[in-house]
Amino acid sequence: MLIQKSKIAFEDAKKVIPGGVDSPVRAFKSVGGTPIFIKKAKGAYLHDIDGNRYIDFVQSWGPLIFGHCDSDIEEAVLEATKNGLSFGAPTLVETALASEITQMFDNIDKVRFVSSGTEAVMSAIRLARGFMNKDDIIKFEGCYHGHSDSLLVQAGSGAVTFGSPSSPGVPADLTKHTLLAKYNDINSVKKCFESSKNIACIIIEPIAGNMGLVPADEEFLQDLRNLCDEHGALLIFDEVMSGFRASLKGAQGLSSVKPDIVTFGKVIGGGMPVGAFGARGEIMDRLSPDGDIYQAGTLSGNPIAMSAGLASLKKLKANPDIYDKLEAKAKKLTDGFKKTAKESGIELQVGVRGSMFGFFFSSNEVKNFDDALKCDTDKFALFHQKMLQNGVYFACSQFESGFICEPMSDEMIDEVIDISKKVFSELS
Ligand SMILES: *Cc1c(COP(=O)(O)O)cnc(C)c1O
Repeated sequence: MLIQKSKIAFEDAKKVIPGGVDSPVRAFKSVGGTPIFIKKAKGAYLHDIDGNRYIDFVQSWGPLIFGHCDSDIEEAVLEATKNGLSFGAPTLVETALASEITQMFDNIDKVRFVSSGTEAVMSAIRLARGFMNKDDIIKFEGCYHGHSDSLLVQAGSGAVTFGSPSSPGVPADLTKHTLLAKYNDINSVKKCFESSKNIACIIIEPIAGNMGLVPADEEFLQDLRNLCDEHGALLIFDEVMSGFRASLKGAQGLSSVKPDIVTFGKVIGGGMPVGAFGARGEIMDRLSPDGDIYQAGTLSGNPIAMSAGLASLKKLKANPDIYDKLEAKAKKLTDGFKKTAKESGIELQVGVRGSMFGFFFSSNEVKNFDDALKCDTDKFALFHQKMLQNGVYFACSQFESGFICEPMSDEMIDEVIDISKKVFSELS
């Protein structure tokens, strides 16, 4: 497979864009090689500028549950563009999408739309701090909540530490308010509450998708809920990835635990830049203009993005069995990988939640970030390169999730498992 045009394009891009990319993970740094420049995509397939075709398990990092260029979403977007791209004034489609969401969740009376997951979580944190009138937050090692200052905190080893910034430019004065705990380890959370009386909220990916796929135990989530109630803190589920992905109701559809605030993104925009956060009325009404907690956005609730989101959500609601079907395909893929890997003496840990899946090159179960870091990332890098050369596009890091989209057929999955058999045998 030749990628000469992508190689040249990457060199050109690097001259005018830092690292040649607009989001770091796209640069393929952790797997080596050159990022593929995409020309177009349709259904389950990506086409690069050299004319190669790939089956796509990234799906724009999650949003495209119906695959690329779904005709219903495309039509909704094209229709909306005819009326104007943005008005900076209220439109009916915002209320329509908000209503679709609030009808689905007992604990969400109102939602506000923003333009990215980062913005949704950043705003949710401000709302939680303002509502509780407390400054500290608890976050988990290995969970990603976008790149806003308070949440860009290095996963440190050791039990519980006040977070130190994981990037220059993030003031330590700010991240000292971010307490780090271990995923699936309730004692580490209790220690945070012992060390601070000023905790506004716990934020968690209830199905972690940004350290590879690592679901939270149900009991752990229940314990978090109880600790929040006991100490007067809010529980925030960051469902930017898992929302409408793990099930129609996201992680909340698979758990009995009810968070106070929920953040959405990715699928909710159907491929357009959208984020959202929602909660019960008492909390949401603290937002400006009715309340005193400020939050705003010039392109928030953009009509094109709202139309794409609404078309996606309506289509998901109209196809309630889609999650079982996608999960069956995800299981088929990961079970297949486990088997073909084993034939070559390679141990894989695999996991599936609805249309999300993950696999770790590790012989031990992965329950938290420390476990995830013990994986064989060199092996993953080789696996990634070789699968790519065979026309299979996976996220270019061991610490990401994979996604099944509706147009992926069983035949396609069989084909990928066959390729994996060859690739694993070359790895061992
Ligand atoms: C992707 C993601 C974000 C950030 O969303 P962006 O749209 O990239 O800003 C936040 N939280 C989670 C759980 C995510 O997966």
